[in-house]
Order: sequence, then C-alpha cells, then structure tokens
Amino acid sequence: MIELLFLLLPVAAGYGWIMGKNSAKNQAHQFNRQITSEYSKGLKFLLDREEDQGLEHLINLLEVAADSVEHYSTLATMFRRRGELDRAIKIHELLLKHPSLNEQQAAASRLELAEDYVMAGLLDSAEEHLVWLVKMDHSEALDPIITLYSQTREWQKGINMFEAHSELFSKEQHFKAIANFYCELALSDNNPSLMRKAISLNHKAIRPLYELGLSAYTKEDYVKAIYYWRELICQFTFFAPLFVDKLAHCYKHLNLIHQFHQLISELLDKGGVLIKIQHCQALLEQGNTEQAFEFLTDSLKRQPTIRGFSFLLQLMGAQDKNTKEVLDQIDKLVTSYIATKPDFQCQHCGFTSYTIYWNCPSCKHWETTVPSKGLDGF
Ligand SMILES: [Zn+2]
Repeated sequence: MIELLFLLLPVAAGYGWIMGKNSAKNQAHQFNRQITSEYSKGLKFLLDREEDQGLEHLINLLEVAADSVEHYSTLATMFRRRGELDRAIKIHELLLKHPSLNEQQAAASRLELAEDYVMAGLLDSAEEHLVWLVKMDHSEALDPIITLYSQTREWQKGINMFEAHSELFSKEQHFKAIANFYCELALSDNNPSLMRKAISLNHKAIRPLYELGLSAYTKEDYVKAIYYWRELICQFTFFAPLFVDKLAHCYKHLNLIHQFHQLISELLDKGGVLIKIQHCQALLEQGNTEQAFEFLTDSLKRQPTIRGFSFLLQLMGAQDKNTKEVLDQIDKLVTSYIATKPDFQCQHCGFTSYTIYWNCPSCKHWETTVPSKGLDGF
C-alpha cells in the first residue's frame, strides 16, 4: 500500500505544478482584466469628452503597462498635431522616465519631447534635450538642433557643437548649415578668417566663397575678388547671376578682360542664359557681331529663354536703326515681364523670392535657394 502511495507522488507533483501554473495564469488574467478595464475607463472618458480625466487615466496606466510605449508615443504625437502641446509634453516626459524603455526608445521619446518644446516655444528645454542626444552620439538630433540654432541665431553654439562632434556630421545639408554659421559669425564679428574656416570644411559651400569675394570687391581688392569668385563660378556656375557683372568689372579694372572672356567660354556648357549673354557680349566687344548673332539665335532655338530673347531684341535693334525704336518698345515690354518673375527659388520647398535667402524662410534649409531656371530664369 505504501508503495502505491509512492507511485502517486509524481501525480501529486504534477497536480501541484498544474495548479500553480493555473494560479499564475489566473493572476495574469486578472492583471490584464484590470488593465483592460482601466483602458476602457480612460477611453470612455475621452469619448465622453471628459478629456482631462480620460488622459489622466491612460497616463496612470503607463506605470503598469510597459509594453504599450508605442501606443503612448502615437497618442502624444496625435496631441501635438492637434496643438495640445501640454498633453504631448506630459506623455513624453512620463515615457522618458519609464524604466522599461530601451536606449532607442528613450532617445526617440527625448527627440519627440524636444519637438514638443520647440512647438511650445520652450526653446531652452528643447535645446537641453537635443544637446544631450548629440552628446550621446544620436545624429538624428542634428536636424532639429541646427534648425533651433538657426532660429535663435546662436551661431557660436552651433559651431561649438560641430567642432566637438564632427564625427556625427555626414549629410551635405548639415555641413552647409555650419558653413553658414561661420559666415554669419564672421559678418557679425567682422572677422573674415571665420569664412576661411567654412571653406576648409569637407563639403564645399557656396556662401563663404561669395562673401569673401564680395568683401574683397567692396575693398577694391580685385585680385582677391577674382580669386574667390573664379573658384565659385567654376564650381557653382548656376550662381553666376549673383556676381558675374561684378566679376567682369574686376577683370576690366585689371586690364585682364581677355581672361574673363576665356573663363566665360570655358563655362558655356554648364552655364545658363546669362553665361551665353556674357559670351555674346565678349564677341561684340571683339567686333564679331555676326558671330554673336548666330550664336544667340542658335542657343535660343535649342533652349528658349525670355532673357535671351530680350538680348536678341537689343542685338537686332543695334544692327538695324530703322527698326530699333519698335524693337526697343518690345524689349521694354519683355523686360517688364521679366521684372514680375521671382529671381530665386528654393530647390527644397519651391519658395520663390526676388532676393537671395541663404536660409530659406519657408523650409529653413541652408543654401537651397538658387537663381531661377527655365524659360523665365537665368
Ligand atoms: Zn525652402
């Protein structure tokens, strides 16, 4: 009989195990029921438009429902989009304190919280979190912190951040932003050497070369102006409308106009209508009127532009005095039409303007505004 009792021992152990398991299951079920009930209460409050109570209810659940971090993040983003920034901030702050977040989730929550703060105008708080992320090597914080420093015009802070964490920088737009931070600081401190620092960055920016050329031109240092602007026009020929007339003046002043003509002829393939007009003017100055006329008509047949047409009218008027008056009148109309068209356009967001903006007022990107292209462009 006792042996039979021994035989029952595994059965008793199995029974105990199953019961224990069922008990744990029951506890888990009970826990889940509690959470579901709390969720339902929270949602009911929200649906009944008792939003404060509903939100409080859902936020309190954060402490017990660690696996729903994603849902809370979505909820916070929804609040931010609706402009309910205090709620978005509250959820993101709670999420950030949550002990179960992994490093990636914590960084994502911190980034979202910084975005809430920016939208709420709490820029110091946003900066604090973004700086922390940069220090922890999160390159995804570069976009918002560069935008923030552009907004607050804290050029030195941006430069310090770049110099301390240059290994995080890989995108061209970030290098362009820092190059422009150097330019802004150079202009406000009247310290051109900072612009030369911008030139030494890995990625070439347009503005430092332009500003250094302009600074030299203003001081009538035409040799230096040619040095910077020649490099600029060779690398970024589409920017020629901004300074090509001044560059021609530099060469003329130094009695080196033939070098300018040579430079323009080398740029014909990559330049727009303005470079072609400059080439025509060179031919005219050399007495090759017929050649200039043929070159321009041929160019316009291949790529019609309003500015090219205007120059053609001037050329025809100069050749035939009988029709000059009529052609001048037509050219006046064409010139008036051109004046109504914006000279610059942002390649990132399409924003148009009559003046150059190094930092696009619409999308806040640096050096994306370029001289207009196409039929009405340069
Ligand atoms: Zn833009």
